Amino acid sequence: SSKSRLDRFISRQVGIKRGDVRSILAQGRVLVDGHVARDIAQQIDQFSHVTFDGRSLQAQQALYVMLNKPAAVVSATKDAEHTTVIDILQRDDREQLHIAGRLDFNSTGLLLLSNDGDWSRQLSLPERQIAKVYTVTVAQPLNTDYVAAFAAGMYFEYEDITTRPAQLSIVSDYVAEVSLCEGRYHQIKRMFGRFQNEVLTLHRHRIGSLDLDVSLAPGESRDLSQTEVAKLA
Ligand code: URA
Repeated sequence: SSKSRLDRFISRQVGIKRGDVRSILAQGRVLVDGHVARDIAQQIDQFSHVTFDGRSLQAQQALYVMLNKPAAVVSATKDAEHTTVIDILQRDDREQLHIAGRLDFNSTGLLLLSNDGDWSRQLSLPERQIAKVYTVTVAQPLNTDYVAAFAAGMYFEYEDITTRPAQLSIVSDYVAEVSLCEGRYHQIKRMFGRFQNEVLTLHRHRIGSLDLDVSLAPGESRDLSQTEVAKLA
């Protein structure tokens, strides 16, 4: 999320240890929205105006990054056990980034990261109907029943929801391209699960009109161009 604790934010922006933030606050050197901040745990977001010794800490450059996510990496900013997508980014500003639309641990492909909460939030708004397109390899051969079932939507009792119409096209016996405008928990795996068909690989190659840059090897990332950012805004 785009919320941050005040001590984290100051530590990151000013480049001081989190433990040193408390005394800086006690000295009254930090203002949030014009008020002296005393609480290290105060929540701030991208709209908060924070100053340190009168200097604004808001002048944060907007960052928009695409990563070709490799398998066996967690779509989270922190994880006690596994490597995260943030860990593998080769950039100093990676701690500022959050994930705009996660992929499962073993899923690969197009993952977007940003520090612009408004931009990433609108990407997942149902009314925007932004299609996420996946290439899926399965264990059992496909047939046209899958096409109909994905288009009709499936009811999931656990969440009490019916999936929105999804497009499935059969590429070959064991490969499908699936286009979804939503992202329920393990959605594609669970939809194939209805056919007792196991998903072996799941690769996202498009979000809206933005394609994964095929020159990015797994684990590589790059900034989006201004045109690409605007395409998805
Ligand atoms: N559906 C899944 O099951 N997993 C993903 O990573 C994305 C969509």
